Amino acid sequence: MRTNFAPERLRDPDIAESNKILRTCVHCGFCTATCPTFVLLGDELDSPRGRIYLIKEMLESGAPANEVVVRHVDRCLSCLACMTTCPSGVHYMHLVDYARTYIERSYRRPFTERSLRAVLAAVLPHPFLARVTFLGAALLRPFRRLIPGKSMLANRLRALLELAPSFGSLPPSSPNQAPRVYPAQGERRARVALLTGCVQQVLGPQINEATIRLLTRLGVEVVVAQGAGCCGALTHHMGKHEAAMAAARANIAAWTAELEREGLDAVIINTSGCGTTVKDYGFLFRTEPAPWPERAARISALAKDISEFLSTLDYQPTRPPPGLVVAYHAACSLQHGQKITSEPKMLLRRAGFTVVEPAESHLCCGSAGTYNMLQPTIAERLRARKLANLAATGADLVAAGNIGCMVQLSHGLPVLHTVELLDWMAGGPEPAALRLVLEKRSDVVPAAAQ
Ligand code: SF4
Ligand code: SF4
Repeated sequence: MRTNFAPERLRDPDIAESNKILRTCVHCGFCTATCPTFVLLGDELDSPRGRIYLIKEMLESGAPANEVVVRHVDRCLSCLACMTTCPSGVHYMHLVDYARTYIERSYRRPFTERSLRAVLAAVLPHPFLARVTFLGAALLRPFRRLIPGKSMLANRLRALLELAPSFGSLPPSSPNQAPRVYPAQGERRARVALLTGCVQQVLGPQINEATIRLLTRLGVEVVVAQGAGCCGALTHHMGKHEAAMAAARANIAAWTAELEREGLDAVIINTSGCGTTVKDYGFLFRTEPAPWPERAARISALAKDISEFLSTLDYQPTRPPPGLVVAYHAACSLQHGQKITSEPKMLLRRAGFTVVEPAESHLCCGSAGTYNMLQPTIAERLRARKLANLAATGADLVAAGNIGCMVQLSHGLPVLHTVELLDWMAGGPEPAALRLVLEKRSDVVPAAAQ
């Protein structure tokens, strides 16, 4: 694609990078076929190619973002299916990330929109605030259908309450989130830091517990580092660059201290949305003053999704095959963002499950960080489509590697994190979410035959 940036604008490293990306696009349009918003809405401006044009015009002009570009960039899920499809290697993620920052800096959103985004950015990255908010939302949840109107605000409020756990179902906080070292069982073969995350700690503390149990059982020492917290992805995807950089900087400092103290073989991430961001720290800090670029690049090189790391270890189940069929839901951040596709399925099969895949597995479920709260109508259509495809597999349950997808898909088959299933089959406790599935099965299969 030809671009026409004024030379002085190209002195800005973000503009120079965007220019480089824009020039790799050859307008072929292959990406449109796999873009969920284009598939649903059929509007070229809601396709990757259309958004690339809009972003190009916005950045070339140097003018504040306008309402049209904001609407179509906001509708992008950052699912990165377009990057998987693109034959020219267009780095759409870096382009749209910068476009979101540009929009946040130059465009004044309506008051309600600004306020909602500010609240989400202030609350979600902090587990305590998130817990208090979810508890409040659980109290209001039964009244969600009484919210009148079809305005965007009404839709968003209903979506927020729909996504909140029902009263009494929010799990208690786990002691495993606190900074400490979990020693390896037997001979230590590796030492890793675990990102315990933010929202996941509140909504799915059993995921970190299963991760720690499984890794330590396999001879891996696990460190929850003092000072590490939210990876910054939630604010990054809202264009709140400074907040995202502050969160990333805290993690880089915490893990670098561990690296220099006793060494680290990996930084383990069990929420794939966070993994994509941590793996991008090197890029995000490339123009920061020393020592941050080098530190960030080192941390990015160490970042591993839990399935990626486990596939290098000798994982073996200790229970007999449970006779369960698992539909594997490929989170976009894992399959498109990190290009990790085979490892989770290979591990689940090794654990003794029969693994099936739904139709349209490349399409996003609509979760996408805060997308399901900010764009509830599109998110709901994608969720319904994904739930139907998962149900059509006939599986007993769903396995996924990202808490956002797990929450989004929680109204269909039971959804568990892959690591919960792997831990269970290697001697961990039975996951609570499996109880109903196993009870149903024991009604059919006599206990002696199991
Ligand atoms: S597939 Fe790649 S090169 Fe083709 S239009 Fe899409 S982004 Fe551009
Ligand atoms: S990131 Fe996803 S929603 Fe956004 S343009 Fe690419 S394919 Fe479409």
